Amino acid sequence: MEKTIFEKIIDGEIPSYKIYEDEYVYSFLDVFPITKGHTLVIPKKHSRNILDCDPETAANIGRVLPKIANAVKEAYNCDGINIFQNNEEYAGQSVFHLHFHIVPRYKDKDTNFDNLEIAWPPQKLEPADFEKIQESIVKNL
Ligand code: 5GP
Repeated sequence: MEKTIFEKIIDGEIPSYKIYEDEYVYSFLDVFPITKGHTLVIPKKHSRNILDCDPETAANIGRVLPKIANAVKEAYNCDGINIFQNNEEYAGQSVFHLHFHIVPRYKDKDTNFDNLEIAWPPQKLEPADFEKIQESIVKNL
């Protein structure tokens, strides 16, 4: 199967602005940042996304996310950070190698080109609805 862009970055075939690297994880600047300091964190071991990712790979990523998020925070004293992770095209995934976006957020939008708007429309459900949803998910764990 053809390598994804991110596998080519890991293998050094495509250049990147490296932020962090260890045996299991590689982190680099997103080439089309949505805010100043937008950084990607990826496992070296390939998985398409979170749905086919093994627990060790997830743990390796989880271990470094706070370190890198704090480095981004220190660098720009941002006012907040979002961590995004898209799975499958319908959910916004465009590169099919698991990755986490660390996106610093700024009150000073202009200087830091923070034009991100997140629509998060809350719905109201009855307890019976929650119980049905809970059961459907839990039985698949
Ligand atoms: P997704 O939409 O799959 O969640 O995110 C993919 C991200 O990869 C996008 O934010 C996009 O800007 C970034 N990206 C795509 N190609 C490259 C590349 O060649 N180099 C880097 N550094 N980032 C890339």
